[in-house]
Amino acid sequence: MDEIHGILKNHWGYDSFRPLQEEIIRSVLEGNDTLGLMPTGGGKSIVFQVAGLALGGLTIVISPLISLMKDQVDNLRSHNVQAVYFHSAMSPVENRVAWERLVNNRAKFLYCAPERLSSERFLSELRMLNPRLIVVDEAHCISQWGYDFRPSFLNIKKLRKVLPEASVLALTATATPEVAIDIRRQLDFRKGNRTFQMSFVRDNISYLVREADTKIAECGNILMKTEGSAIVYVRNRKRSKEISDYLNGLDIPATFYHAGLDHEVKEERQNEWKTGNIRVVVATNAFGMGIDKPDVRTVIHYDMPPSLEEYYQEAGRAGRDGRPSFAVLLYSRYDKAVLRRRLSKEFPERKHILRIYERVANFLSVAVGEGYDRVFSFDIDLFLATFKEDKEITEASLRMLSRAGYMHYIDERENTSRLRILLDRRELYDVRGISEDADRVLDKILRLYPGLFIDYVYINETRVGRELAIDTQKVYEALLELSRHKILSYIPRNRMPHIYFPTSREEPRYVRIPVSVYEDRMEKLERRIEAMIDYADNGASCRVKRMLAYFGEPSPGECRRCDVCRKVLEKKREIRIDRKKLIGEIMTYFADHPYGATEETFSRDFKCYHGKAEPAMRELLHEGFLEYKGNLIIVGDYR
Ligand code: ADP
Ligand code: MG
Repeated sequence: MDEIHGILKNHWGYDSFRPLQEEIIRSVLEGNDTLGLMPTGGGKSIVFQVAGLALGGLTIVISPLISLMKDQVDNLRSHNVQAVYFHSAMSPVENRVAWERLVNNRAKFLYCAPERLSSERFLSELRMLNPRLIVVDEAHCISQWGYDFRPSFLNIKKLRKVLPEASVLALTATATPEVAIDIRRQLDFRKGNRTFQMSFVRDNISYLVREADTKIAECGNILMKTEGSAIVYVRNRKRSKEISDYLNGLDIPATFYHAGLDHEVKEERQNEWKTGNIRVVVATNAFGMGIDKPDVRTVIHYDMPPSLEEYYQEAGRAGRDGRPSFAVLLYSRYDKAVLRRRLSKEFPERKHILRIYERVANFLSVAVGEGYDRVFSFDIDLFLATFKEDKEITEASLRMLSRAGYMHYIDERENTSRLRILLDRRELYDVRGISEDADRVLDKILRLYPGLFIDYVYINETRVGRELAIDTQKVYEALLELSRHKILSYIPRNRMPHIYFPTSREEPRYVRIPVSVYEDRMEKLERRIEAMIDYADNGASCRVKRMLAYFGEPSPGECRRCDVCRKVLEKKREIRIDRKKLIGEIMTYFADHPYGATEETFSRDFKCYHGKAEPAMRELLHEGFLEYKGNLIIVGDYR
C-alpha cells in the first residue's frame, strides 16, 4: 500500500479513493497548483486532508463558513488529526488557545476565514509557520462571476504573495467555464497547473418540472406515489414547518430543518432522517452541506432557486448510490416574477447604499478616518428599527459595501453556546464567593460535558436547567456570573452579526461602488436567473442537455429521462399505436368493400388522416395484404 492509501486507511478507515480524489492528490504532491471540480458529496475534504498529511508540514484551509470550519475541525480531531481555526468573530481567549496549539506544533491544518487574511499581522504570522499548501475550499466564492462571490476571498491573493513557496489547491462543486478560468486567474495559478473535472452527468436522476398552482398538494402527491427518503427544499423557514405538518397529515413521516434551529435539534432531526426513521425532511438550503446520505430517492424543490448552480447542487443530493431517483422542480406561473424581483432587491440604488454606509458607521460610532481593522458587533434589528430601514435592502447594501471593500458584514449567528473552563481542577475546588445557583450549574456542567478543561464544548442551557430543575434564564445568569469570576469562558448563543472595517471610514464623496461590483454583477445575476427560468419554463428540449450546456459540458445526447424527453418518447409510442389503429381501419374498409375501391375513392374516404393513410395502404399492398386488380382489393385470405 502506498502512502496516500495508507493515510486514507489509517485516519478514515476507507479502502479506496473515489473518482478523481487520487488524481487530484497526486497532482498536489507533484507541486502543481490544482483546481478540482467535484460534485457535492464527492469527497473534497478528504482530498485536501490526505494531500496535506502526505505533504507534511502545515496546510492552510480557507473556508467561507464558520460553521463548516468548526465541523471539519471537530471531525479531523475525531480522526486523530490536530486542527485549529481562526475567524474574525473569535474571542481573544479562543484566539490564544488556537495559537498555542499551532505554535506547539500540534496542528496540521489551520482553517481560516478569508476576512482574517486582510490583517497584515496575521499574514506575517502565517508566514512564520511556513505552510506547504494553501487550500481554497468552495473556491467559486473568489469569482465575481460565480453565484456566491465573497469579496473577502480576494484576500487570498495576499496570502499567495507572502507564501510564494506554497502551492494552491482550489476545490468547488460547481463552476461554469468562465468561473473556472476566473478561479485560476484570481488565485494566480502558476505554469503547469492542472484542472480536474468530474462530469456533471448524473444519469440515474430523472429531472422533472411539474407545473402546479397548488404546490403543496402536488408535493404530497409526488411523495405518495414514490418511495424512499426525500428532501423538500423551500426558501422560507416558516413554510418548512407548514409543509412538514401537511405531509404528516398525509401519514408521510416528515420533519423540518433550517438555520434558526438549535444545534441539538438540528443534529437530532438530521439523524432521524439519515437513519430512515423519518422519511422526508423539509428544509431550507441550510440543509445539505456535509450531509452524505446515499439513498435519497427524491429531491423536490418547492421554490425555484436563483441559479442552476444551486439547483444542480441541491438536486444532486438524490441518488448518490447510483439507483434511479427523481429531482422535481415545482413551478408555478408566479415564480418567474418572484425571481426577477430578486434582481431589484439585490441591487439597491447607489445613493441608498451610501445612506446605509453613513448610517451604519454612525450607529457603530465610527468617525470618519476611524475604524480600520476593527470588528463591531452589529445589532441589525435595532439598526433597522432606529432608522426605519428595510431589512432586505439593508442587507443587500451591506453585501455591496462588503464587495466594494468598505465594510464586511458577517452574519453567522451562533446557534449554540460554547464554554470552556479557564481554571484547572485543583483551582476549581478553591473557588469562593459565587452564588449557590452558579455553584450548582458549575457542578452540573462538569458532569454533563467532558472535555471542558481542554477546549470549547457546545452546551445547552435548557438541558442544564432541566437537570437542575431551574429556569434556563437562571442557568444563563449563573454562567455569566462564572464568566465574570474568570472561572470559565462562556460564549452565549445568538451572538450578533458582525461588521469588520477593512479600511477606515471614508467621507461619503469618496465612497465608490465600482461598475465591477454593481453593473457587471447585476448583469451576471440576471443571466443566471434567466438560465434558471429557461430551465423551468422551456419545455421544448431536453432539460439535462440545457443544464450541461450551461455548465460548459458537451452533452452526450438527450437524457431520455427528464420530463421533456419522456413526453417525446411517449408521443412516439402514441404514433406507433395510432398506426396500428389506422392499419386496422384500412383492412376493415376493404373487407367492407368486396369489389374494392379506386385510389381516389380511398383517398377521399381517408381524408381525415391527412396523407397518412396512403403510405400505410401502399405498405399493405407491398406486404401482400391488398392487391391491385383494376381496383384495390383485399386479398381473399384476409377477409
Ligand atoms: P464534499 O466536500 O465534496 O461535498 P465531503 O468531503 O463532505 O464532500 O465528503 C462527503 C462524504 O464522503 C463524507 O462523509 C466523507 O467521509 C465521504 N468520503 C469521502 N471520500 C471517501 C472515500 N474515498 N471513501 C468513502 N467515503 C468517502
Ligand atoms: Mg465540502
